[in-house]
Amino acid sequence: MATQRQQALAMVQSRQRVAVIPPSIKISDYFGTNVFGNDQMKQSLAPSAYKRVIEAIDKGSKIDAATAEEVASAVKIWAISKGVTHYTHWFQPLTGTTAEKHDSFFDAHAGMEKFRGSSLVQQEPDASSFPHGGIRSTFEARGYTAWDPSSPIFIFEKTLCIPTIFVSYTGEALDYKTPLLKSMEAINEAAVEICQLFDRNVRKVQPSLGVEQEYFVIDKALFSARPDLVMAGRSVFGHNPARGQQLEDHYFGTIPTRVKDFMVEFEIESHKLGIPVMTRHNEVAPGQFEVAPIYEEINKATDHNQLLMDVMEKVAEKHNLKVLLHEKPFAGVNGSGKHNNWSLITDTGVNLFQPSNSARENLQFLTFLIATVKAVYDHADLLRASIASAGNDFRLGANEAPPAIMSVFLGGTLSEVLDELEKNGNLKIEKGDNMYMKLGISKIPEIILDNTDRNRTSPFAFTGNKFEFRAVGSQANVAGPMTTLNVIVADTLKVMAKDIEKEINAGKEKKIAIVNVLRKYIKDSKKVRFEGDGYSEEWANEAAKRGLSNLKSTPEALDVYAKKSTKELFERNNVLNAIEVHARHEIMLEDYIKKVQIESRVMGDLALNHIIPTAILYQNKLIENANGLKGLGLDHSAAVETIKEVSRHIESLKSNVTAMTEARKELNKEEEVVTRAKGYQSKVKAAYFDKIRYAVDKLELLVDDESWPLVKYREMLFIR
Ligand code: ADP
Ligand code: MG
Repeated sequence: MATQRQQALAMVQSRQRVAVIPPSIKISDYFGTNVFGNDQMKQSLAPSAYKRVIEAIDKGSKIDAATAEEVASAVKIWAISKGVTHYTHWFQPLTGTTAEKHDSFFDAHAGMEKFRGSSLVQQEPDASSFPHGGIRSTFEARGYTAWDPSSPIFIFEKTLCIPTIFVSYTGEALDYKTPLLKSMEAINEAAVEICQLFDRNVRKVQPSLGVEQEYFVIDKALFSARPDLVMAGRSVFGHNPARGQQLEDHYFGTIPTRVKDFMVEFEIESHKLGIPVMTRHNEVAPGQFEVAPIYEEINKATDHNQLLMDVMEKVAEKHNLKVLLHEKPFAGVNGSGKHNNWSLITDTGVNLFQPSNSARENLQFLTFLIATVKAVYDHADLLRASIASAGNDFRLGANEAPPAIMSVFLGGTLSEVLDELEKNGNLKIEKGDNMYMKLGISKIPEIILDNTDRNRTSPFAFTGNKFEFRAVGSQANVAGPMTTLNVIVADTLKVMAKDIEKEINAGKEKKIAIVNVLRKYIKDSKKVRFEGDGYSEEWANEAAKRGLSNLKSTPEALDVYAKKSTKELFERNNVLNAIEVHARHEIMLEDYIKKVQIESRVMGDLALNHIIPTAILYQNKLIENANGLKGLGLDHSAAVETIKEVSRHIESLKSNVTAMTEARKELNKEEEVVTRAKGYQSKVKAAYFDKIRYAVDKLELLVDDESWPLVKYREMLFIR
């Protein structure tokens, strides 16, 4: 009987491409047609209602019941005209995916379609199955979802989806969106205060975000034939293909047709949903691709990234493909991340991270730049924790992604400017001096323009007019790291404002007061700046000397959430209270444990039920062969050597899997979640994963190809 692997390979051979016929109209003609956006609202709402909604979005204020009723009615008519029958509150629980519960518009009692304002505004999903880190059991509260009018309602899979927050009845956030929205408020307040020092007209500052999303694509049949991919999202076994990444340039220049079809279709679907994607396909590893939308306001960009992942999965299905969003689906091949391009933009249209031709605006630019560097320095451990996950642990510091050390890259030009400012720390600036000239600030724009240096090995790099946080994992909900970034920068800006005020109160002229504070901050945060190769061992050593943390595993990285200072930081910025921080810590630890546990079980099952039986059959063949040779009086030493080798690996597998299972059992008795998570890291993952994998991967090379049960790397990564 053919193995599942052989059946899957045969299926792949007979695949036909699923052709996509793009709409015959321009993208601009169908962009956002599945979104109840600004245009749709303007068209279908009374002017007064429209005005109230826009106001609520702008100010983050509540929408009154009557207006909600009007919006609900307009949305219903719009949705039904598009063949939609159900609606759902769409939210982002702490599981990392999106959740929804569908309700029908059809009201059997009334015999007609209904959608009340109250159903738009608030719902009570059956929330018991979402992680809550003890919040709900402590408070015996249920959760509810509430409409977020600042992110547009959309139609996905014939369902009207209403973006919502998800909170407990006692008000604690149970999702990613709630703290993100609050962090936007925190940074808005802090940034506006600083902006006012430069421009009185600034009333609002919003973070913007552009997410570059990396992913792998493989054939669906091959995916299904790998229980590890199905269960854990990554392959726990598999020998590297002989043909590795080194051939990338000539070998992977063109996108396979089936993948291209898939890309074209998910682009079309994304555009209908108002997601401004521009596909790209420039990734390093075989089978790996990237998609990046144009940046948007951070809340929308976050929702769009979540939605984009769903769209990709749904469309891939049609093309008999499977999208792998795991950070490290294949060992020995580059993993996937999500580069978070982040900046701050004022309601007067100024990007605060854009150097300008005006020296005065440049001082503002430097103020925000230096505040961000200082924030990363002061809160490096929090930033590290914000990207911690079982999947990302395989990637950070694995010579393909930034290390777990948080550092900032500014580029040669800006580094010089900052060094100069610092060096001139005691330079007296007199009234009437051209301060900008004297401090070397006026020179920035011209040098920046030809500043082409790009450091790809930094976890947090300034890229000309924005920061790029590159250490985020490819599966992550970006709201986690972005909330943290907003909060730490907001907090730093607030302290900065006070420091500047002190200088002013001490009689300093405003811009001199600002410069004095900047000089101090540059000095204080200098250690976090690094321009060299972030992947190198020298950097790890240098960073250790500088006293920077290098927290390699998730459980230890998460320790920072237990600190009083962390709780205080989130609390004083009105983003999360102490209970919510604690709950998140617990949820992330539980998530880590669950993931390692699943991987460990899959490894054990595959080793015992698939690999060892196959190896034994092969061994028997070898024994037969050796006996045959012996009977003929021929040399059978090679066969005997191979038999011994196979035996060794089988023994190693058996004993290690047994010991690993024991270790898991022991740990499951541990009540303290931090200890349990750390145990899973050191006593399960670190202690056994590599050993078990080593034996299996060696057996893959020894056992005859035909009987090997698992689809091989070269088959997953290269066959189309
Ligand atoms: P890369 O060279 O890293 O591929 P790109 O310039 O192509 O960078 O941009 C990558 C992402 O950064 C895109 O999503 C883009 O829209 C986004 N981006 C550009 N400017 C900003 C900004 N001011 N704020 C946030 N994101 C931005
Ligand atoms: Mg990039």
